[in-house]
Amino acid sequence: MPDVNDSQFKIRKVKSAMSVNAVKKPIFVGELVVYMDTPEEARVIEIDCRYELNTTANSCTCCTYRFGSRRDPKFQCRHMAAVRKVMNGEVTVESE
Ligand SMILES: [Zn+2]
Repeated sequence: MPDVNDSQFKIRKVKSAMSVNAVKKPIFVGELVVYMDTPEEARVIEIDCRYELNTTANSCTCCTYRFGSRRDPKFQCRHMAAVRKVMNGEVTVESE
């Protein structure tokens, strides 16, 4: 995992921007449901296939990320993008 300090800094930064309301509630981001277990860690569920992933702002358990991050350390899958939107407050429980 490259540059651990940098990624921790980023998490802390988005954490303060996120509403407390976003934790422990299902939030719809496009075709995904983001469920924040903690301010740093989420479960992301695909509405269609009900496949559950463990996702943070910097990692994801999906295959797309595992292969993509091998080629590009800054690779971001759509699950991470959805989680980041929730963390940044771009998508909230209320706006669903
Ligand atoms: Zn993913």
